Formats: sequence, structure tokens, C-alpha cells
Amino acid sequence: MKKIAVFPGSFDPFTIGHEAIIRRAMSLFDEIIIAVGANALKKNFYSLETRKEMINTVFKNEQKVRVDHYEGLTVDYCKKRGAHYLLRGLRTSSDFEFERAIGQVNKSMEPGIESVFLLTAPEHSFINSGIVRDIIQNGGDASKFVPAAINLKDYKGIEDQDMLT
Ligand code: ADP
Repeated sequence: MKKIAVFPGSFDPFTIGHEAIIRRAMSLFDEIIIAVGANALKKNFYSLETRKEMINTVFKNEQKVRVDHYEGLTVDYCKKRGAHYLLRGLRTSSDFEFERAIGQVNKSMEPGIESVFLLTAPEHSFINSGIVRDIIQNGGDASKFVPAAINLKDYKGIEDQDMLT
């Protein structure tokens, strides 16, 4: 059976922390689907399409990695894709507490889906999308926190686009 993992998240934006988790997980799974959560209630900086485009740029030469989006429960999306693994990264003890609750709820809803956690590399443990977004929104240089393939100048946030219209 093909080992398919879903890596769900907001990825607003995708960072080198996310990239490192995917690259390490590539030896564990046959296919990894990076699934961008499309939550209409959540105010995102980058549009769904922009986030997917950025991630596609990073993995365009990787046969094993696909980029998609989903709405609703992550476990329902996993079932739809035939994925038996849910991949997550762990940075801090607060990540652990948050992931523990979600992981246990998911396991109780779908016993056939295993959550798999990879510990972040120490040099990535302070990187989170919120901080990177803050740097971008305030005109700073966030390029070292996003994958080399992503040129931030090529992408506009939703608010910036509004200002242009
Ligand atoms: P969410 O909004 O669900 O937290 P994120 O886009 O922030 O989604 O993150 C998706 C996944 O990537 C989560 O499992 C998160 O713990 C992990 N992650 C985020 N940043 C890092 C990092 N710097 N190192 C390792 N894992 C990370």
C-alpha cells in the first residue's frame, strides 16, 4: 500500500521550517500532500492561490510532493485522499500541547489515521509564519526565513492588492 501523508497548515507564508519538515519526511512516505487549509473565517495575509503557488515553486521538481487545499475536517480530507498519515512539525512545548489535543481527537475520530510528528531542527525552532508575516507587512527583509525558491517580491498580500485597486 502506498504510504501517503498529508501535511496540513495555513502556510501564510510557507517557511524554511515547513520546507525542512517536508524534505525530511520524503524518505518516510511515498507521497506527501501539502494541504493548505481554506478557512473562510480566518483572515489570511496571502490568498489561498498565492500560498499554493509559492509552495509549488519550492517543490516543482519533487515527484513525491503535491500541493492542494481543503475545507472542513483534516481527517475527512485524509480519507478522501487515501492518506493514512498526518504529518506535523513540533517546535516547542506549546506546540506539543496543541498537537496532543488535536492528534488525540483525530485518532478517536479516525483510528486508521496516524499522526506523525517530526521535531524541528534547532535553527528553525523560532521560525513561525506569524513572525515572518509581521516582518513582510512592516517592510522588513524576510527572505532568509522562506525557502530560497520563493522570491517574496513576486507575491502580494491580500491587503496590498486591495490598496492597488
Ligand atoms: P497551523 O496554522 O496549523 O499552525 P502552520 O502553517 O503554522 O499551520 O504550520 C503547519 C505545520 O508546520 C504545523 O505542524 C507546525 O507545527 C509546523 N511548523 C510550523 N513552523 C515550523 C518550524 N519552524 N519548524 C518545524 N515545524 C513547523
